[in-house]
Amino acid sequence: MRTALSIAGSDPTGGAGLQADLQVFRHFDLHGYGVITALTVQDSRGVRSVHPVFPSVVLDQLRVLLDDIQPHSVKIGMLATDDVVRNVALGLDRLGADAPVVLDPVLAASDNTILLERRAWPALRELIARTTLVTPNLAEARALTETDVSTAGGIESAARLLVAEIGAAGALLKGGHRDGPPNDLLALRCDGASTVALHWFEGERLPVGPVHGTGCALASAITACLAHGDPLLEAVQRGREFVAKALSKVESRGGGASFLVYP
Ligand code: PLP
Repeated sequence: MRTALSIAGSDPTGGAGLQADLQVFRHFDLHGYGVITALTVQDSRGVRSVHPVFPSVVLDQLRVLLDDIQPHSVKIGMLATDDVVRNVALGLDRLGADAPVVLDPVLAASDNTILLERRAWPALRELIARTTLVTPNLAEARALTETDVSTAGGIESAARLLVAEIGAAGALLKGGHRDGPPNDLLALRCDGASTVALHWFEGERLPVGPVHGTGCALASAITACLAHGDPLLEAVQRGREFVAKALSKVESRGGGASFLVYP
């Protein structure tokens, strides 16, 4: 059986975070490993509090696991603090060079609760330099690149920066929170060259209210496809199709945001 590792925060609702990642991995016939970076107290209405795991315990979890077992791909989600980011980077020194790494730069929840402290942004940029794909929404792309992303040209500049200067092999900028069309932009470093190739994906806005955990589902679906050996462009296409299908069947359970129903 192919396998993938999620390094993420706990979400007791299972709509986002590690619990959601493992469900998505299972959907793609993967065994999922999980390293928890933070506990959250939340329901479908929002996040009440965040409790980072001791950074040394995050490092221990990674070292002990990776000294024994190597996953076929890795997804990184919520990291909470600067020290946790640095310890995840240290722990990943034990990861085989061939395993793709997808990093969803989770800065805040939809209800604006901070999920990564501000002073951790420089360390996060260093971690992004080691990734196969970084998947910011537009607010995260603006924060990480200090670029105005209110126009298509600005989004393209931010995507190029994430690849050419910050150093990710690929960047997927998600336009779902934009007022205009919810198109996504994928920037890919071209082999051996300093050029960056851009691919726009057209999105369709579905008449659904707030949905919890779409970013986690997309990043973990792409991670799952990479674990199966898909090339990056194909993995992104399949990940987007998976989320689009899940968005067409959302389910309301608690008193707040709806949940994705995996196809
Ligand atoms: N909780 C955890 C552990 C998360 O990783 C995330 C997002 O990545 C959230 C909550 C917030 O999810 P949303 O913004 O979709 O409500």
